[in-house]
Amino acid sequence: MRYDAIIVGGGAAGLIAACALALRGRRVVLLEKQPRVGRKLLSTGNGRCNLTNLRASAGDYHGARAAAQAALKAWPPKKVMGFFEGLGVPCVPDEAGRVYPMSRQAASVLDALRLRCAEAGVEICTDFAVSSLVCPGDGFEARAADGRAASGRCALVCTGGLAAPKLGACGDGYRLLEGFGHRVTPRFPAIAALKTPPDAVRALKGIRAEGEIALLADGEALRTEAGEALFSETGVSGIAAMQLARLATQVMNRGGRCEVRLNLAPGLDAAALLSHRAKQLPERTMEDFLNGIVPRRLGQALAKSAGLEMSLAAKRLSDKQIARLAGALGGWTLPVTGVQGFDQAQVTAGGASLKDFDIRCMQSLRAPGLFAAGEVLDVDGDCGGFNLQWAWSSALMAAEGIDSVLAKDCRIHQ
Ligand SMILES: Cc1cc2nc3c(=O)[nH]c(=O)nc-3n(C[C@H](O)[C@H](O)[C@H](O)COP(=O)(O)OP(=O)(O)OC[C@H]3O[C@@H](n4cnc5c(N)ncnc54)[C@H](O)[C@@H]3O)c2cc1C
Repeated sequence: MRYDAIIVGGGAAGLIAACALALRGRRVVLLEKQPRVGRKLLSTGNGRCNLTNLRASAGDYHGARAAAQAALKAWPPKKVMGFFEGLGVPCVPDEAGRVYPMSRQAASVLDALRLRCAEAGVEICTDFAVSSLVCPGDGFEARAADGRAASGRCALVCTGGLAAPKLGACGDGYRLLEGFGHRVTPRFPAIAALKTPPDAVRALKGIRAEGEIALLADGEALRTEAGEALFSETGVSGIAAMQLARLATQVMNRGGRCEVRLNLAPGLDAAALLSHRAKQLPERTMEDFLNGIVPRRLGQALAKSAGLEMSLAAKRLSDKQIARLAGALGGWTLPVTGVQGFDQAQVTAGGASLKDFDIRCMQSLRAPGLFAAGEVLDVDGDCGGFNLQWAWSSALMAAEGIDSVLAKDCRIHQ
């Protein structure tokens, strides 16, 4: 059977586009290389799926920002929420504008998409890894390596990026689009942990601390994020740190010196705090002196970085030593030696260039009838629901674009 649209990739973008097209009465086949659709979706937002953000604006996006802006205009977060409510998933924002399904379960979002696809007659073919996509005449043909094929008037590539390969990410989509002359911008991990010299952080593995994290390039703060830092054997992760990875890569790629500065007492006069504490707890040695302000082991690391002996009692701290310790508490600075790879990253920076697409509908300028949406394109967002918002909104625009192509065909043939 020839379909109206072939959708390659059954992730967030592919599923929502399939739903939207089928709801308009279009015959759709969704080809997914994994045994199940939407695996990555299940891992989003720690299993709760932060599906959009009410405060989303173009400034939350990188890469082709104009395309992100166009998608936000066509399908703003409230309209996306409305779409999900129509699928039976009421959405609830938190105080930061991050939106979750009312059930707080990513599985509810995936189930709602799957159910609506089934109700609307989308054909889902799993274990179907598209290895070639060609345009033999007035349509497209997708083929798997085992010889299976599907053909349709339009094709939508939603194969995602390179982040989290365990959940299905691979570079197939870039190759499929390159086959039509599409350009692909350099890709690198965005939203990923920062690597620091292991000696500085090894003892802190698993410790979490609230504060502010700034990324410094050659000593100058470029961006500061507030939130939780999570230490690992190799560096710092947690949302606030991971958010800085994209910028860190850019600084290091241009040969700059990169550091992170952690302020673990934001908004406080650290020197005054510690002077008062030294009087209050005079017998405490540096081993325990900061315990309570920060986790004990982190307090020890800060004292060490300020050059203080663990056996030193608080009553013996000089003013200079207090100033050094306050400097460490309010600005512990660690060199950044790299960024974790795609294995550990949440999102891909770079991708198929939007210069080759009509950003009003995500249609290819190289091959009419070919569309793309989601992470395969050169748009990535910050943490907070912005990446799924891009996946939904670009895919819904593409679905409308496909619908227009099909409607035009119909008028011509009448
Ligand atoms: C751990 C984790 C947590 C995240 N949490 C959030 C969050 O809370 N909020 C947020 O906004 N973003 C989050 N993200 C990012 C978000 O999940 C992605 O940006 C989004 O899923 C991208 O959607 P997509 O449809 O473009 O790609 P994907 O969801 O990656 O889907 C692409 C699909 O295409 C399939 N595919 C690939 N190649 C082929 C082929 N050749 N043939 C057939 N099928 C193919 C893949 O198997 C996959 O199923 C998170 C990411 C990760 C890894």
